[in-house]
Amino acid sequence: MDRIYLDNNATTVVDPKVKQAMEPFWLQRYGNPNSLHRFGTETHPEMGVALDRLYAGIGAADADDVIVNGCATEGNNTILKAAWVDGILEGKKSRIVSTAVEHPSVAHTLDWLEQRGVEVIRLQPNHEGLITPEALAEGFDADKTALVSIMWANNETGIINPVKELAEFCREKGVPFHTDAVQAVGKVPVNLQEVGADYLTFSAHKFHGPKGAGGLFVRSGCSFTPLLHGGEQMGGLRAGTVNVPFFVGMGLAMELAVDSLHYAQTTMATLRNRLEDAILALPDTMVLGKREHRTPNTILASFKGIEGEAFLWDLNQAGVAASTGSACSSESLEADATLRTMVSDADLAHTAVRFSLSRFTTEEEIERVISVVEGTVKRLRAISSTY
Ligand code: PMP
Repeated sequence: MDRIYLDNNATTVVDPKVKQAMEPFWLQRYGNPNSLHRFGTETHPEMGVALDRLYAGIGAADADDVIVNGCATEGNNTILKAAWVDGILEGKKSRIVSTAVEHPSVAHTLDWLEQRGVEVIRLQPNHEGLITPEALAEGFDADKTALVSIMWANNETGIINPVKELAEFCREKGVPFHTDAVQAVGKVPVNLQEVGADYLTFSAHKFHGPKGAGGLFVRSGCSFTPLLHGGEQMGGLRAGTVNVPFFVGMGLAMELAVDSLHYAQTTMATLRNRLEDAILALPDTMVLGKREHRTPNTILASFKGIEGEAFLWDLNQAGVAASTGSACSSESLEADATLRTMVSDADLAHTAVRFSLSRFTTEEEIERVISVVEGTVKRLRAISSTY
């Protein structure tokens, strides 16, 4: 029985074309790009192409910086800690404004900064799961705020925040705006000509690139303090020998992701909707967030009377991989932070299962998942003590 992978918000399969593009840089062209000999310099053309693809993929201008790094966790840490060092430790500002539903790479970094005296404001999403400019504006104090950090799309629900308006608000107030766009790239257009974010993070393994490669956009003219000091790699903005195969792979993965945006928003969305409709046709189920507010690949569904972990286990037995909560927090059986914030009914918050598709998900797979889900819901409700 073939396994079916519907956990693409946790990570994605590497596109075979990406794997192929990375291949020469392990055994043949393995030089350090900073070396002056041929082994080093022969990596430069592909790295240049990769960087161009990253700039083009997110609409960065030549004067902006796109720093290739180890992961989005690194990018998020870098920006939040830079705000602390630049704006707060120097005594100019005291506050970072973010949300209660950020990924742990932002949320836990903010906890850490808070323990060191930073004032952290965590905005709550509205009943539709959105962080609105009105919510940001309420009580906003530009004189105190070193940074606003609000995710583009949520990893659990797929809910897309109005980042263009949020960025505009920050620009008017003269406060830098960072967005974690990890779950947006390849699913919705990410164009920094249109969205005036000052900093943006992304991660290759969420769009069919390798794990352990990420990018950090820094708009031209915005202040920046590196997290890693050392060599002059990345123009001195991120020290450490460049991981050439991953760099090259991420560049191509970005280009392929952008090329398949139309597919993602049409065919993939149709497959997602087919699964979602089938889930909603079952009694006592709900899906978080309006469809038009979500990335085209994500469903976070609640099934009354069924514990999420039990559901996942059953799905896994049937060869279907989905998830509860984020992979980073799934060791805990605690309802996920996003859910706790959005769903007042504790029972529902405990029963949420996330299905996330990719451009490689097929119609046959979705049809099989539907019949597995229908069978699992029936079976688990028959033995549920709460249903
Ligand atoms: N932000 C979001 C929204 C994510 O979904 C993830 C990955 N789960 C990350 C950040 C962290 O990305 P990485 O694995 O590259 O550190």
